[in-house]
Amino acid sequence: MFEPSAQITSLLAAVTVRPSASEGMRAMLQRQSEFPSPVVAQLTGIALDPNGREVVDQLMDADWSDESRQDSVLDDSGPDREVIIGSGFHAAVYAAVRVLSGYPRPLVLERGDRVGGTFAMTTRPTFRLNSRNRAGNAGPAGDQRADLNYLPGAPVQASAMSMAEYQTNADMAFAIRLTLAQFADVVTNAEVLSVSGDRSELEIEMDSRPTLLAGRVIDARGLGDPIDQDVANGDTILTFPQFMQRMAGMWPLRGLRRVAVVGGGDSAKCAVESFLGIAPQPLMAAAALDQVDQIDWYSDDLPTTCNQWQQDIRGRYQAIGRYLRTDRLGARRLSVLNRRARPVALPGAALIDGRSYDLVVLCIGNQEKTIGGLSLASFDEYTILGGAVVAREHYNLPVFRVGPHAKLPFSRQDREDGIADIAENSVAMFRTSGKTAALAATLRTTL
Ligand SMILES: Cc1cc2nc3c(=O)[nH]c(=O)nc-3n(C[C@H](O)[C@H](O)[C@H](O)COP(=O)(O)OP(=O)(O)OC[C@H]3O[C@@H](n4cnc5c(N)ncnc54)[C@H](O)[C@@H]3O)c2cc1C
Repeated sequence: MFEPSAQITSLLAAVTVRPSASEGMRAMLQRQSEFPSPVVAQLTGIALDPNGREVVDQLMDADWSDESRQDSVLDDSGPDREVIIGSGFHAAVYAAVRVLSGYPRPLVLERGDRVGGTFAMTTRPTFRLNSRNRAGNAGPAGDQRADLNYLPGAPVQASAMSMAEYQTNADMAFAIRLTLAQFADVVTNAEVLSVSGDRSELEIEMDSRPTLLAGRVIDARGLGDPIDQDVANGDTILTFPQFMQRMAGMWPLRGLRRVAVVGGGDSAKCAVESFLGIAPQPLMAAAALDQVDQIDWYSDDLPTTCNQWQQDIRGRYQAIGRYLRTDRLGARRLSVLNRRARPVALPGAALIDGRSYDLVVLCIGNQEKTIGGLSLASFDEYTILGGAVVAREHYNLPVFRVGPHAKLPFSRQDREDGIADIAENSVAMFRTSGKTAALAATLRTTL
C-alpha cells in the first residue's frame, strides 16, 4: 500500500476542516476495514460525496496551476527525470505503476489548464463511458469479472464512485486526477512544441516556458484534436469538446429547436444523447423549457430504423434507437440521414444542404497535432520480454508513445478474444492500460 503524497495529505486535511465537504469522508471511515487503508476509505468517501468531490477538484486545480510550485517543479528537472506529455488516463497509469515499481515521480506536462485529459473536458458530468461499470481488476471486455475502466495503481477506481451501469466522464476524470495527485508532479499550461537531443539527454521546448531537460519522454497525447476545428465557429457550429463545454454550463439547450450532429462514432452518439435528454442531467435544463424538437444525424454508416438499430448497435447506445421510431402521426425527433455533410455558418444559424439548424455538432474524428522531432514515422513498435508489443519507441531518442497515441494495431490475441470485432476497442482503456502499465513496470532507470 502507498503512503499518501504531500498533495493528497493536504487535500485530506483541507476537507477535514470543512464540515459541509467531509460528510462522505467521515461516513466511509465507519467501513474502513473494507478498504486497503484509511486513506483509500477517506478518498472514496470524498468521491461519493458531491460536496467533498467539488472541494477536492477545486483544490487540485489550484495546486496544479500555482505558479511558484510550477517553477520549482520545472527547475528540478534534469537528465534523470522522466517527463510525460499529457495528463490523461495513460499519464496516470504510467506514473502510478512507475512509482509503485520503486522509481521517482514523473513530471507531467499538460498543455491545458485542466488536468485529466479527455474525460476531464468538463468539470460536471456530460457524457457516459461506453465501457460498462464493473468492480474488479484489469481484464478484457469478455471477462465478466474485469473492471473495464480499471486504472492500475489508482487510489480510488472509477467503479468505486457510482452504481451506474456506465460511469460518467467526471467519475473517470476524478480517478485519473487523484492518481496524478498521488504519483506525479503536474504542471499545467505547458504545451510541448518539440523534443530533441540524444540517448542520454533530451531538451523539451515548450510554449512560453524555458527549455526543460529530461532523461526520457513518455508521449501520452491521446487521440489528438478534433478534425475540422476550422469549420467550427464556437457558436452555431461546435466541435464535440466545445459542445460538451456548453452542456456543462447554464441553460445548455435553451433556444435549440432544430439541430444536427455530423459523424457516427462514440462522440456523435454521446452528442445525440445530450440532445435527446438521455445523457447525464445538465445543470438547469428541463424538458418543459428546453426540449429539442428535431435532431438530424448525418452519418453514412449508421442504421436508420429502430429495428436495424437494435440489431446492429451495441448495448451501451440502445436507448437512442427508440427515438428512430415514428409516432402515430408520422413524426419523430431523431432522423439518421445516410450521408456525409459539411455545415456552413450563417449569422445565428448553420446550414447543411439547404436546411437551417440552430446548432450543428461536428464529431468526425481527431487528428494529431505536430510536436517537432516526434512524428509517428520516427517510432517503431516496442516489445517487452515475452514478445508483447506495448508501446512505440523512437528510433534514436529515449521517447515512447503510449495509449491510443501509439496507434498499435490489433494483435492476434485481440482478434482471438473478439476485441478486434469492435473498431472502437482499438482505443479502449481495457486494451491499452495493461500495455502502458507493462512499459512502466519494465523500463529501466533513466540514468
Ligand atoms: C469522447 C471520448 C469518449 C471516450 N470514451 C471511452 C470509454 O468510454 N471507454 C474507453 O475505454 N475509452 C474511451 N475513449 C478513449 C479514451 O479516451 C482514450 O483511450 C483515453 O482517454 C486516452 O487517454 P490518454 O491519456 O492517452 O489521452 P487523453 O485523455 O486524450 O489525454 C491527452 C492529454 O494530452 C494533452 N496534450 C496534447 N498535446 C499536448 C502537448 N503538445 N503538450 C502537452 N500536453 C498535450 C491533452 O491536452 C490531453 O489532456 C473515449 C475517447 C473520447 C474522445
